Amino acid sequence: MQIPFNKPYIAGKELEYIKDVVTRGKISGNGYYTQLCHDFFQQRYGFKKCLLTTSCTDALEMAAILCDIQLGDEVIMPSYTFVSTANAFVLRGARIVFADSRADHPGIDEDKIEELITNRTKAIVPVHYAGVACDMDKIMALASKYNLFVVEDAAQAMDSFYKGRPLGGIGHFGCFSFHETKNIQCGEGGMLVINDERFLRRSEIIWEKGTNRAEFFRGEVNKYGWVDIGSSFLPSDIIAAYQYAQLENLDIIQNRRKEIWNTYLENLNLHESDFFFKLPAIPDYATNNAHMFYLVCQDGEFRNKLLIRLKEKGIGAVFHYLSLHKSEFYRNKNAGRELQNTDRYSDCLIRLPFFYELTQENISYLTKEIKSFIKELKHYCL
Ligand SMILES: *Cc1c(COP(=O)(O)O)cnc(C)c1O
Repeated sequence: MQIPFNKPYIAGKELEYIKDVVTRGKISGNGYYTQLCHDFFQQRYGFKKCLLTTSCTDALEMAAILCDIQLGDEVIMPSYTFVSTANAFVLRGARIVFADSRADHPGIDEDKIEELITNRTKAIVPVHYAGVACDMDKIMALASKYNLFVVEDAAQAMDSFYKGRPLGGIGHFGCFSFHETKNIQCGEGGMLVINDERFLRRSEIIWEKGTNRAEFFRGEVNKYGWVDIGSSFLPSDIIAAYQYAQLENLDIIQNRRKEIWNTYLENLNLHESDFFFKLPAIPDYATNNAHMFYLVCQDGEFRNKLLIRLKEKGIGAVFHYLSLHKSEFYRNKNAGRELQNTDRYSDCLIRLPFFYELTQENISYLTKEIKSFIKELKHYCL
């Protein structure tokens, strides 16, 4: 049996909507389907303002501009995250101060943030790893105590909640990804959510290449021009059309993904496995949006051997992240503090295949292989 790591979900109406955009004849950004997508998110989650972007990376870059990051400003974030979380701020001249992950979860350790704050600190960037919320009350309290911005990297956190509040809607800004590995996808895509009223106008200008074109299209000004810095952060309406077909099926997608997640949990919740790996933990203040299923193995050797075994059996399990504080690009710029939990997740975490069409048979097959691998190891140990 061959089980890929990911297979993008196709809702069914993507091509129909793309054809409609082509027929309408307005194909550039901020068109008919872009508006439908914005309205969908604003209505469903009560987000103040949404702007589709060409990636979460772009949404993070927009957030860094909106935070007015200057050369030498410090930004606190976990080291256990994707490159773009940091890169977006480095592009503005920031120095990244990496915080360790929690012992019980790969997300940032909220209790280790305050000791990293200096008078140069400008922002905190929590990453909702696996779509599981960081403890946002703690982070927002620090932000208001020290007058900092909070940019939620909610790339993995679509349709997930913290104490009933949608992720991406709590910090000053929220950044989502619609990359093909995410729950809702359009190949490459993303969205910036603006929760702070002060930035409603400027966000739209940065989005439209530093111009007030959006105001012009609404008839608020009779000519548009260069009013600020910006870039071309908005996707073509073709992308938005594809995306809208996905959004119409959001509940169907989410329900199926949760079923898959629970099937994994039931299958892998083995008494004997506890010694070899830990299952994902979800704090009581967070929901599970079934973005991924991962195991934290007892050590790196076990993780790597298991990866090889699964690969031999046609199973596309993967690992991530190479921690950013030890990366080729940043290790010399970093303060050199030890980040033990980060290193542990980097060495020991394994992601199992996860996509809409994954079947019960796939999961049974996969579980059987993991069980037999453990059995062999136990045989060795005894
Ligand atoms: C996927 C991901 C990103 C990048 O998203 P793109 O849309 O590919 O730019 C950033 N941060 C995290 C945590 C991610 O998982």
